[in-house]
Amino acid sequence: MSKISDRLNRLSYSQTFVMSNKAREMKAAGIDVISLTLGEPDFDVPQKIKQAAFDAINENYSHYSPVPGFLELRQAISEKLKRDNNLTYKPTQICVSNGAKQSILNVLTAVMNDGDEVILPTPYWVSYDEMVKLVGGKSVFIKTSIDTEFKITADQLEKAITPKTKVLLYSSPCNPSGSFYTGEELEAIANVIARHPQITIISDEIYEFINYGGSHVSIASFPQVYEQTAVINGMSKAFAMTGWRIGYSACPEWLAKACDKVQGQMTSGANTVAQRASITALQMDPSELQYMIREFHKRRDLVFDLMKNIKGFTCNLPKSAFYFFPDISYYIGKNLNGTEIKDSDDFAMFLLENANVACVGGVSFGSPECIRFSYAASEKDLKEAMHRIKKCLDQF
Ligand code: PMP
Ligand code: GLU
Repeated sequence: MSKISDRLNRLSYSQTFVMSNKAREMKAAGIDVISLTLGEPDFDVPQKIKQAAFDAINENYSHYSPVPGFLELRQAISEKLKRDNNLTYKPTQICVSNGAKQSILNVLTAVMNDGDEVILPTPYWVSYDEMVKLVGGKSVFIKTSIDTEFKITADQLEKAITPKTKVLLYSSPCNPSGSFYTGEELEAIANVIARHPQITIISDEIYEFINYGGSHVSIASFPQVYEQTAVINGMSKAFAMTGWRIGYSACPEWLAKACDKVQGQMTSGANTVAQRASITALQMDPSELQYMIREFHKRRDLVFDLMKNIKGFTCNLPKSAFYFFPDISYYIGKNLNGTEIKDSDDFAMFLLENANVACVGGVSFGSPECIRFSYAASEKDLKEAMHRIKKCLDQF
């Protein structure tokens, strides 16, 4: 009998970390592996933000903060949401957490009963389906493909809704597809959800600033769903602060209170030094961060040009975030030098072992025909990685 609970036994390890750990272990064993696994900016945290953290330590911000975060931080978030997204949220509607990951789990914990359904447009970010399992829910998938830029339509959404649907959860810009929904597309989705008041939208906007194709729109800006939406965002991507673990949710009052309740029993709130530094970060002019976006943009174009020449890869030009999600169906069902390729996880493992390039298979994103590459890596590594993959696959 397993000592581990059934609930945890149903969960998988996060595939992003599984693959990045494998790459790390191979490197430690002296193998020259290029890892394009974890999606995290490879930039340093801007100096101003670091200074704010030093100041916070010296000013003795060493005690618990209020559970949903320091008021000054929630005010800075409220101002940011107004400035960048034209959204009006009072500090009482904001809950600061240990990363956007926790913010999403807070909201799911707050609204889900056993057996409730969560609609996940596929591909989805790895942790969504696992979090749904953790809170006793059931994911309902809406499958998309590269032909529609991996986006769902309002019509597909309407058809997936049942009396048990509690949540619609998606990221825009999307990890892993790199697509984002336009204002028009979101409005059509909002109109559907507004007809089903039992549904909460969890709108994960963590890649908001990493957008090369247009302006970011939050679904919460459509008044018909403001009361039904939790906006999720955080410091990890825009400010290269993944390890500082600060994320937040902005919700209607009833839901914000519920997140506060969850968090008060689970974590007591987020790290105080990182919270103080986040105030400085959010008060920076977004133009000060453009150098990172410009760099990602350049790398995206570079990888796209190189990837087009890789045999058996079908890829679109992602308009946001920092991932490529090529369709590699060509290799599925094939035997590559004695390795059976049943799905894209097998294929990702094949690339790791035969090309020394680590990426993440698409199975845990709900797309077993695709693989994910993060291009938050140096140009030199990206060029070398694409070269290795091309060389390895040209023979098949
Ligand atoms: N949402 C998406 C779509 C992500 O890619 C990530 C990965 N960082 C997160 C949420 C979690 O971010 P955080 O580091 O703030 O927990
Ligand atoms: N969000 C990043 C990714 O998708 C970091 C890893 C994680 O949080 O799962 O690679």
